[in-house]
Amino acid sequence: MSTQPPVIGKDVLGRVIRDFSKIPWWGIPREQIPWYPRIDYGKCVRCGLCFLTCSGRVVYDWDFRENKPVVARPYNCMVGCNTCANLCPAGAISFPSLEELRRWRDQAQAVAKARKRIEELRRKVLSGE
Ligand code: SF4
Ligand code: SF4
Repeated sequence: MSTQPPVIGKDVLGRVIRDFSKIPWWGIPREQIPWYPRIDYGKCVRCGLCFLTCSGRVVYDWDFRENKPVVARPYNCMVGCNTCANLCPAGAISFPSLEELRRWRDQAQAVAKARKRIEELRRKVLSGE
């Protein structure tokens, strides 16, 4: 269930980069869901918080020449996460709407699948398997 995606490198901070783009999201190919950050460079104040914060998925690189964040691995972004947008001091990061996110959730039947998975786990835990 929790297959680790392959390692594809390390970034400038030495963080391990994995390729999450091939891991389907509740059965839907990840690259069919355009959930990833978009940066408005007119608003960005080049603080680096998005780049430094996204350390698990390593979605961002930093362009040291231009001194700005780059969305280098968009499909590494965790569907539904918007931590970087919430933390951005300039409101420079945006994502698709909540309505779109919920449409993908329903299309993937994620709630029913999650409930089924929990039931399976519950049975397993309670029976001591
Ligand atoms: S957190 Fe916002 S302001 Fe800071 S570098 Fe990222 S996009 Fe720019
Ligand atoms: S939303 Fe989360 S996973 Fe996606 S780029 Fe921002 S911090 Fe990383």
